[in-house]
Amino acid sequence: MSPLAVVNDEVVAKKTRELLEARGVTMDDLAELVLFLQKDYFPDLTKELCIDNLEKVLAKREVQNAILTGIQLDMLAEQRMLLEPLQSMIFNDEGLYGVDEIVALSIVNVYGSIGFTNYGYIDKVKPGILKKLNDKHDHQNHTFLDDIVGAIAAAASSRLAHSKGH
Ligand code: MG
Repeated sequence: MSPLAVVNDEVVAKKTRELLEARGVTMDDLAELVLFLQKDYFPDLTKELCIDNLEKVLAKREVQNAILTGIQLDMLAEQRMLLEPLQSMIFNDEGLYGVDEIVALSIVNVYGSIGFTNYGYIDKVKPGILKKLNDKHDHQNHTFLDDIVGAIAAAASSRLAHSKGH
């Protein structure tokens, strides 16, 4: 795609999925996180229902935009392509650099305030794929992606919680 190509929804949606997968995040990983967040409130919750809610979250353009932006910055940091001092801040995942969390919050925001609690909790506990993304053993930089993945799971959980009983 040339830089001047007209952006179409299908291309954005497709690239979002491709990048998530290329960075090691599967729908199954995301569904596990939703199960983790909701199992106490929703004992009969199935992986299929988690995936159904994740699909709805991932279909939102603002979510896709956050994913594309965050992964792109992670990849550019990996390739040492950013200008200093941003290069070092993102590459080293510096504590004082919080833009990764802000980008992730734009995902959580989509389903209202209930998502914030889930997001804060999952970011603290770091279950499943979140632990893997934080291990820094795969030679990939996931400064943005770990927050984004937590946010996607939190947003899908909020969606589930809102739809419960309706
Ligand atoms: Mg981060």
